[in-house]
Amino acid sequence: MTGGAVTGFEDAYGYAPEGVWSAPGRVNLIGEYTDVNEGHVLPVALPQRTRVAAAARTDGVLRLRSRDVPGPAGLPLDGLAPGRVTGWAAYPAGVAWALREAGLPVGGADVYVESDVPAGAGLSSSAALEVATALALTELHGAAPCDRPALARLAQRAENAFVGVPCGVMDQTASACCVPGHALHLDTRGPALRQVPFDLAAHGLRLLVVDTRVRHALADGAYAARRAGCEAAARALGVRALRDVPYGELEAALGALADPALRPLVRHVVTEDERVRDVVALLAAGEPRKAGPLLTAGHASLRDDFAVSCPELDLAVAVANGAGALGARMTGAGFGGSALALVEEGGAEAVGAAVTAAFAAAGHRPPRVFAAVASGGARREFPGDGGGEVGVRGEEEPAGPP
Ligand code: ADP
Ligand code: MG
Repeated sequence: MTGGAVTGFEDAYGYAPEGVWSAPGRVNLIGEYTDVNEGHVLPVALPQRTRVAAAARTDGVLRLRSRDVPGPAGLPLDGLAPGRVTGWAAYPAGVAWALREAGLPVGGADVYVESDVPAGAGLSSSAALEVATALALTELHGAAPCDRPALARLAQRAENAFVGVPCGVMDQTASACCVPGHALHLDTRGPALRQVPFDLAAHGLRLLVVDTRVRHALADGAYAARRAGCEAAARALGVRALRDVPYGELEAALGALADPALRPLVRHVVTEDERVRDVVALLAAGEPRKAGPLLTAGHASLRDDFAVSCPELDLAVAVANGAGALGARMTGAGFGGSALALVEEGGAEAVGAAVTAAFAAAGHRPPRVFAAVASGGARREFPGDGGGEVGVRGEEEPAGPP
């Protein structure tokens, strides 16, 4: 797996890298737009990873190359500032900038990137790139062992402040902190981070991911508009964030909102936060099948109340459920990207085939369908002692009933 990255580095720079670090993409099981309301999320690390082969440089220059995206870059670290770097190089350059801004002794490096995380599919190839780069740069320069949630926050800062994408902290935390066979229950107000058993194969289940391979143009504007709507609703309700509206007080809160346009946003966030906690309880109780209807309810909420779905995502979800899935939903910010479906092991193929056929019949591009096994977070791949897992493991949910 790491051989390609080593060879790619050698071809690019003419010498051997000091190491290869990797970080996974993620799929969010449930908890959409809750992270930007300081609520709960439940992502799972994908088997697909981004690998960064790197070696330290002593001249303060960051050289960047990717197998997957053209445009090598050579950037003096001292000149880095938000807005100065465009294109894909902004992600790794932003990480170097954020680490240095945080006072970590990170210097120059030669960096070579390759990834099998589909880019732009709502599966967080950006976070995978940031987190793998952050781990590489901190280890190369012997920067003080920054714990994983802190590393994730610095990667988020790179994306927010340097690249200019106003994402929450979920993606980077999943990529940095997930452990195999578990979903990550994250309270984004923090610092709570719990590893919840998610060994679907042991239950005869599979998690299918359907990458619709579409991304509608309104995605970025809609994301910002929904966030602004949520902030306006929180202000109107006199709370710091919508996660502070208790589920039991939802109706009263809706009644108190003068602007009717804000009500569906609040209803989505408050019910979605509750669904995350319900799914966590079911997984912890060893009842993953029962989570299916909650996934589908989450989709309806995103489609009808939060209004961030699109025809391709609605089709994937409806067809998956019609073909026997236990539940399905769009995942990620919406307007394209990916959906997920919880399916019986024996029914996985039929569900995938039904979605693919429905896309063809509707005249959509063929979707990319794959089964996701809950994988591990960022690590050093080479030379190999696994790179340590300092601060990764959260409290494990008890396996019995809650
Ligand atoms: P997502 O995170 O859902 O995949 P984003 O738009 O947030 O989508 O991030 C995708 C961007 O991240 C790409 O356009 C590219 O700039 C960068 N990126 C991701 N993977 C790679 C890679 N292997 N090489 C270079 N850049 C990458
Ligand atoms: Mg992204």
